[in-house]
Amino acid sequence: MSTPAAPRTPVRPKERFLVFGRPTIEEPEIEEVVDSLRKSWLGTGPKVARLEREFAAYKGVPHAVAVHSCTAALHLSILGAGLAPGDEVITTPLTFCATVNAILHAGAQPVLADVDRRTMNIAPEAIERAITPRTRAILPVHFAGRPCEMDAILDIARRRNLVVIEDCAHAIETEYKGRKAGTFGDFGCFSFYATKNMTTGEGGMVLTQNEAQAARIKMLALHGMSKDAWKRFSDEGYKHYSVVELGFKYNMMDLQAAIGIHQLPRIERWLERRAQIWKRYDAAFAELPVELPAAPAPDTRHGLHLYTLLIDEARAPVSRDGFLDAMTAHGIGVGVHYMSVPEHPYYQQRFGWKASDWPAAMAIGRRTVSLPLSAGLTDQDVEDVISAVRDVLARS
Ligand SMILES: *Cc1c(COP(=O)(O)O)cnc(C)c1O
Repeated sequence: MSTPAAPRTPVRPKERFLVFGRPTIEEPEIEEVVDSLRKSWLGTGPKVARLEREFAAYKGVPHAVAVHSCTAALHLSILGAGLAPGDEVITTPLTFCATVNAILHAGAQPVLADVDRRTMNIAPEAIERAITPRTRAILPVHFAGRPCEMDAILDIARRRNLVVIEDCAHAIETEYKGRKAGTFGDFGCFSFYATKNMTTGEGGMVLTQNEAQAARIKMLALHGMSKDAWKRFSDEGYKHYSVVELGFKYNMMDLQAAIGIHQLPRIERWLERRAQIWKRYDAAFAELPVELPAAPAPDTRHGLHLYTLLIDEARAPVSRDGFLDAMTAHGIGVGVHYMSVPEHPYYQQRFGWKASDWPAAMAIGRRTVSLPLSAGLTDQDVEDVISAVRDVLARS
């Protein structure tokens, strides 16, 4: 199989390259950031508190703690769960490295359980098989915005007395049987990275039902300093703080929250727009040598974060990597979510992992491509993506 030469005429010239995962930033965010700058209140303050309140209300949970990233949210949640060194956390091999790195930074041991070939989510049977006497937690990732099988996962957790920490980086709008992603587990972790369904540039959030846990995570996110230490320079007079645990510098800034408080009210509208694009892609690619994303399961709501095609290398005129190159040459940005975690040398060297031990995740990781799906895409952008995909895959 050969990589095709650059297209004779690119669908989009270089000057109009369609960036993958481009955020939608509107005037109110810009004004709100400027307002923070004018007031010279840059760090954690009232805008962070507002984003926490409004995100908790959107999700219908009592507590949300804003942090600097989803990676930080995961790290603090695992610490909050009280895991000790050597405790095992079962997670998926089809995720961003941050999921596994957070487990390692918390001193625990990641154990991978393979995904379902169709849904791309962690398979409950694989979780069962991965359980050992040291298992303490399950960390499912709602991949691409599709909810994991939470009934089965919660059932395993209850029977084995395991903590559940949801990686909701793709799953802000996701629901499963009428309940919102991030509210099933002991902790739900969200990302507001630039490419996610809403952004604060960098940013994250931890949801928990438990007030004491929320307070502890807040404290760990700010050096382990006692409550409300961020108020210490306010006009209420100097307040001494106490360091009561070894914490981190994971707090969110008001500059970040300034963006988020205007993104959050738009996410439902943006989801509708991505649903239109999704449908258009499904129809346009039905006859091509690719596997389309699995249809959402009944009684669930897909967060539509990633539109992924699996290239059928036996029938397609190009390999997966050839497809990536050809799309780029067409002026269309594409992504890969993800090469499976055990494909990376660090984990191979540290744990002796072999990608072939998780065959479903490996097969997906080697054939998958993600197409642009941002709410800000125009109809013309969408048609350009379709033209490019057809040009690359319909050639014989
Ligand atoms: C983006 C992402 C993360 C990390 O989010 P950050 O906010 O960049 O730290 C973790 N898990 C998954 C599945 C992601 O996609």
